[in-house]
Amino acid sequence: MTKRPITVAYGDGIGPEIMEATLRIIQAAGAAIEIETIEIGEKVYLQGNTAGIKPEAWDSLRRTRVFLKAPITTPQGGGFKSLNVTTRKMLGLFANVRPCNSYYPFVKTKHPTMDVVIVRENEEDLYAGIEHQQTDEVVQCLKLISRPGTEKIIRYAFEYARQYGRKKVTCFTKDNIMKLTDGLFHKIFDQIGAEYPELEKEHWIVDIGAAKLADTPEVFDVIVMPNLYGDILSDVAAQIAGSVGLAGSANIGDGFAMFEAIHGSAPRRAGQNLANPSGLLLGAVQMLVHIGQGDVAEKVHNAWLRTLEDGVHTYDIYEEGKSRQKAGTREFADAVIARLGQKPAQLKEVSYANAVGKTIQVKLTEHKPAKKELVGVDVFVHWPSRDANKIGEAVKSFKAGNMEFSMITNRGVKVYPNGMPETFCTDHWRCRYKNEAMKPSTYADAMAIMKQVSDAGFDVIKTENLYTFDGVPAFSLGQGQ
Ligand code: NAD
Repeated sequence: MTKRPITVAYGDGIGPEIMEATLRIIQAAGAAIEIETIEIGEKVYLQGNTAGIKPEAWDSLRRTRVFLKAPITTPQGGGFKSLNVTTRKMLGLFANVRPCNSYYPFVKTKHPTMDVVIVRENEEDLYAGIEHQQTDEVVQCLKLISRPGTEKIIRYAFEYARQYGRKKVTCFTKDNIMKLTDGLFHKIFDQIGAEYPELEKEHWIVDIGAAKLADTPEVFDVIVMPNLYGDILSDVAAQIAGSVGLAGSANIGDGFAMFEAIHGSAPRRAGQNLANPSGLLLGAVQMLVHIGQGDVAEKVHNAWLRTLEDGVHTYDIYEEGKSRQKAGTREFADAVIARLGQKPAQLKEVSYANAVGKTIQVKLTEHKPAKKELVGVDVFVHWPSRDANKIGEAVKSFKAGNMEFSMITNRGVKVYPNGMPETFCTDHWRCRYKNEAMKPSTYADAMAIMKQVSDAGFDVIKTENLYTFDGVPAFSLGQGQ
């Protein structure tokens, strides 16, 4: 078999030890890989490279397109960019896939039959990092959800479920509140889900869904989520499965993929032959499936399950009376290697038969752009008063073309006309002007209104255009409107 080139980074802290153990196990199992090593992390940061990765490392990544990465230490203090975020963005790794399993009774957990895969959108949502301070009192972070970004992650989740023999895909959003952003995510989930009739589909509002996941994770199978919810809930899921030290994760893009453990570099445990290599090993198992060596992945995964069953445990999961041998990193790797070819006796045996050699491809569906028309403008104003009626009286007469004053909100709540005296107002006001009949206006009208507001002495901090798409209003109403 020709060897598949992969890029490997040994990382910091416990990184080198768990990487050494992981590579030894997968090579003993017959992984056909050719390793290119790159340097990333603390040393590179401290040499003055704020990204923590040298330019030549990108060349290796571009060549191999597969990255097995040990955890790194981000030095304390400002100015250092997160290497994970940089790699994710540079390589377009849009999907974060994190299987969270419990290994009861061999690893302590309150959820003995948990077997959940979290598929997290990795590139957009609030993580676009677009933040602005707009007034003395108010800062803003833009939540961006795109149609192609959502299609890619939802399609990936369904394809993953199909390929890995899963039964159900669940979507978590908060679309009862964020009707446009999370609403789009939910809508695309329903549309794409219809193409997978053999899979069960369901949607939960993220708050109650998260509560259910923490309480009864066994009712879930694959869960797909926007970035922020996925970030939080994938950690919750890994933790309640039994140990953060046991989970691996894959970051998948179009033609690029990065595999890692979910834990950090545990500097206090470094260099003592103590660390559990299981998280990185399971990341490497996902990598082997990805590069079409599912048979090797299966062999490693089953031998690893057998090792857990046989009570060979590193310190983090060792339990007096239950475990049989407290193993160091090296001895644990030796124990897995000794069991290659064996299957677990009690835990569920793993099979990657369906997944072998089939890299998941996500194609975007053709989308005909809708007819977009401008029907109004929201003019945001910094005004250091808490008196809604005063600003309302001052701006209500402005008009241009067929746009007229509609309302004022403060933090999304309608405060003029007919606001509630109890509503607390900040210094951040949104004055809405629009055509009530949703007839098209012009940008010149919007600018004329902005000028009138500014000429009246108000500090205009930004505007947001109000559109209809194919005649449907595509902006939120004020709460209480
Ligand atoms: P951590 O995950 O390194 O450690 C948390 C706890 O879990 C510690 O008690 C540690 O001893 C234990 N632990 C973690 N992995 C273990 C393993 N394989 N075997 C046994 N015990 C293990 O988190 P932290 O202490 O918050 O962070 C340490 C450093 O790691 C920081 O510099 C942080 O920035 C970095 N970090 C890196 C990544 C990454 O590279 N992907 C992820 C998270 C944190």
